[in-house]
Amino acid sequence: MEPRFEQFIRERQNLTNVTPATVEWYRRCLSWLPSESPAQADLKNLVLRMRQKCLKETGVNTVIRCANAYLHWNGGSERKCGPGCTHPRIAQLKEPRLVLPTFTEQQVDRLISWKPTGKYQRRLHVLILFLLDTGCRISEAIGLNVSEIDFDNLLITLDGERRKQRVVPISFELRKARFRYCKENGRKPEAQLFASRTGANWNRRNILRDAKLLCRKLGFDAPTRTLHSFRHTFAVNYLRRGGSVFHLQKVLGHSTLEMTRPAAASLHEGLEEYFTIDRLGVPPILQRCLATTDIIESPHAGVRIRTRRVTNWQNGTMARRWMASALLRTEKKFRRIMGYKELWALERF
Ligand SMILES: [Zn+2]
Repeated sequence: MEPRFEQFIRERQNLTNVTPATVEWYRRCLSWLPSESPAQADLKNLVLRMRQKCLKETGVNTVIRCANAYLHWNGGSERKCGPGCTHPRIAQLKEPRLVLPTFTEQQVDRLISWKPTGKYQRRLHVLILFLLDTGCRISEAIGLNVSEIDFDNLLITLDGERRKQRVVPISFELRKARFRYCKENGRKPEAQLFASRTGANWNRRNILRDAKLLCRKLGFDAPTRTLHSFRHTFAVNYLRRGGSVFHLQKVLGHSTLEMTRPAAASLHEGLEEYFTIDRLGVPPILQRCLATTDIIESPHAGVRIRTRRVTNWQNGTMARRWMASALLRTEKKFRRIMGYKELWALERF
């Protein structure tokens, strides 16, 4: 690495006290820069190079953010970076705004009511309950010690990003599950709550694999970014039940409200449906059912479960035959939906 880069990182380490993770990030980002003092044309080239390597907009922007910090520092100005700066700089790309992947209510129900057997399944179950209940990051859950849980007041202390600690509430239900788990495994107060079988950090990849397998076992495909979508699910449900965005920001440990916005925005999509159903003017019980359950999901899941062992689909006729028989089988298990007595109200549409 160029000596000027090293100097930048050293100064950041000692003067602004950045975390080791940030230092690692600086190293990765600065390695994209072609030289110590690049010209504006080099920088344009840099963005093109990153796009060719198929980096996503968000990934490119993190590199740009770091490069701009370095370029400002390299310019030797003491002031904060702003419009008055004359050093070369890179403009950020527009990032697409995507709806956050979340678990549906039905999927969450299934995860919660899953009956684990053996201590490793129980560990996974408690972790999932933990993520759904507190909305914390997976890294925060892995690093948690047993002593950081205040049983009497139902509070836990989390070590968030940027060395910021925060205290979040837990539910009574989670306390029960967690207590049973700790007792069964003989976890001491100074031990990590979720550890591997040797007592080391539980590997993130292994958790991801187990969580995905579990979802498939319970009859649905895990949403993308599976472990993080527990956090999304928590956030969206919190807002849906009437929690305020400001409290949500505190609980999630976001430093700015801007970071919490995607959760509120994705809720908006759901709200739209709420309003449509509201306009239909159907009885409340049926309204609740239509707004919260995706009725077609159930037959889909049924077909998925009943055809999952087929590995060789020979032709379309075979696929149709299997699907038809799977649907007929699934039909036998159908139950009446909530508010079925009021279904007549839909007739006039
Ligand atoms: Zn500047």
